[in-house]
Amino acid sequence: MSNLPCYQMFIDGEWVAAESGEQFETFDPYAGRPWAMVARGAKADADKAVTAAYSALKTGAWPMLKATQRGALLRRLGDLIARDADRLAEIEVRDNGKLLAEMGAQVRYLPQWYYYYGGLADKIEGSVIPIDKADTFNFVRYEPVGVVVAITPWNSPLLLASWKIAPALAAGCTIVLKPSEHTSASALEFCKLVQEAGFPKGVFNVVTGFGPEIGEPLVAHPDVAKVAFTGGEIGGQKVYESAARGLKAVTLELGGKSPNIVFNDAVMDDAVKGVISGIFAASGQTCIAGSRLLVQKSIEREFTEKLVALASTARLGNPMSLDTQVGPITTRQQQDKVLGYIEIAKNEGAKLALGGGPADRSECGDGWFVEPTIFTGVNNRMRIAREEVFGPVLSVIPFEDDKDAIAIANDSPYGLAAGVWTTDIKRAIRSSERLEAGSVWVNTYRAVSYMSPFGGYKRSGLGRENGQDAIWSYLQTKSVWISTADSIPNPFIMR
Ligand code: NAD
Repeated sequence: MSNLPCYQMFIDGEWVAAESGEQFETFDPYAGRPWAMVARGAKADADKAVTAAYSALKTGAWPMLKATQRGALLRRLGDLIARDADRLAEIEVRDNGKLLAEMGAQVRYLPQWYYYYGGLADKIEGSVIPIDKADTFNFVRYEPVGVVVAITPWNSPLLLASWKIAPALAAGCTIVLKPSEHTSASALEFCKLVQEAGFPKGVFNVVTGFGPEIGEPLVAHPDVAKVAFTGGEIGGQKVYESAARGLKAVTLELGGKSPNIVFNDAVMDDAVKGVISGIFAASGQTCIAGSRLLVQKSIEREFTEKLVALASTARLGNPMSLDTQVGPITTRQQQDKVLGYIEIAKNEGAKLALGGGPADRSECGDGWFVEPTIFTGVNNRMRIAREEVFGPVLSVIPFEDDKDAIAIANDSPYGLAAGVWTTDIKRAIRSSERLEAGSVWVNTYRAVSYMSPFGGYKRSGLGRENGQDAIWSYLQTKSVWISTADSIPNPFIMR
């Protein structure tokens, strides 16, 4: 038996081991060593969690609560997250290696999701239809869609879970969350706050383990009404296929190959910082990474020189240290994958302008690092320009004019996000209209909020999270018909 601390699953308000008794290691990517054990769930555990969530949806205190009371519980949960934000952030850094500076700010911002959707809970108003039939009263009400399975990746564990949890609970659904097998700890710590806030048992459950072992049986379970998935394209397709067989509602937040477009009238120093924040923040492990730099030919040389100069000063090292700028890659497999893409790019003829290796420096310890890497001479047909790397690797692609820039930007199977750097307001508006992307940032990059819808065009996903849009994907519509007639008319004719 291992001496490491062990995280159990949270099902029906209880801490439980996997039915099989199995566990697996979760790693600290900076130390390159396991730091805790996590229960290895499978179908029996998935069944148990869905049964608990289904029972909490149908019986007990939860369905009896008024929307205002659900909102109050959510706001209380937000307060508890605010209280414990620093502790939760440190657990996330331990598990995924992202910077404490980023995760601290992210977790401190998290309560806003619970305040916002807590406030929205009792503002989902039905309507009375001015129906075109005699002696009839017809109204519409919105009801929770049912048990929600939420499946999340490793890069921003609590943030991406909260994008699902907060609107789903506000809508009155119950939830089974399966966090990534690489970053399960923070979701389990979060359960303690759900308990303390006073949510009835079974309303929120967390199971842990691997996609094929516990993710698939969760999605296939007949009592699940909706699946909210964030992750890679392959996992997303499998989830979509399985959910289709059960005719379940689905939202998918998938990958990207987002263009960051720099026009020749941009404020160059700002654009350099914006491009760096788009690709080297979080070591490029974000779905919205601006991994294709599209730069106008007339400034390509000067811009690339400035970019390489600033990127080469990035401080790599311990993510817990507040002055580190680039941390490790979350998993050893992902580090291999990123280094593999660097070789692919070299073989395709791209020219290495910075980095290109695993960063063997003393300040990187035994961590799984990849140096900030920049390739010039990339054309948009190369694999390095088409496939998601999910690491700190930037492809520089030159363009001639606005038309060319938009054509290259949109020539991608993905459409999650895009950046535009210009001082010309007409160009900014025209570009934002023509870009095929769910988020467009002008003279900024990588901004998200609970208030503003987020999601992908094309292969980057289905549906939207955040903003008022999101709660509707956790509700279903019921039309209620009431006769005010004194007697039933001819029963053989449709009314
Ligand atoms: P992944 O698809 O490997 O795993 C995501 C989650 O899905 C994990 O919890 C995993 O266990 C689970 N899973 C995998 N296969 C499954 C299956 N067959 N059935 C059910 N569950 C399954 O992704 P990852 O490597 O953890 O994360 C990186 C990917 O996530 C990248 O492609 C990135 O772009 C994407 N991502 C997207 C967004 C977004 O909002 N669009 C945000 C962050 C990350």
